[in-house]
Amino acid sequence: MGPDDFFKEAHVKLRPVEFGTEGVYLCGLAHYPKHIPEAINQAYGAASRALTLLSHDIVTVSGSVCEVDEKKCMACGACISACTYNAIEFRATRQGKKAVVNPVLCKGDGLCNAKCPTGAVFLKHFTDEDLLSQIDAAVGDV
Ligand code: SF4
Ligand code: SF4
Repeated sequence: MGPDDFFKEAHVKLRPVEFGTEGVYLCGLAHYPKHIPEAINQAYGAASRALTLLSHDIVTVSGSVCEVDEKKCMACGACISACTYNAIEFRATRQGKKAVVNPVLCKGDGLCNAKCPTGAVFLKHFTDEDLLSQIDAAVGDV
């Protein structure tokens, strides 16, 4: 929600009827007080965005999402509190409770990655090794 306690769109110009979370749309007074014709037009927009999603058999998401190395996870919950998209939850495994990332909800912002005290969370394509290799390639033998 925004500071005025109304729901906030993902982007005021590019995604005006969508939330930051995929598959959730907004229109009308939930957004802010507006005239009825404007609310109706926005409702058409939200419905059409929902239909676009529902018309696909398969939903493609970003490959740059976080994953948890279960062996390193000590179930402290720091990643869960850091994630603003509710993309991480605990699951019971043979080794006890472990954090698991839902790749459909994950936006790849890396907040959980930075908070994990054991380095169990890693962002695909942006691991420490990936970044160090890029730095090595950029600076070469200098
Ligand atoms: S922050 Fe790291 S150690 Fe803590 S629950 Fe998340 S993945 Fe596990
Ligand atoms: S990268 Fe961001 S969105 Fe994805 S699980 Fe971590 S905190 Fe949540």
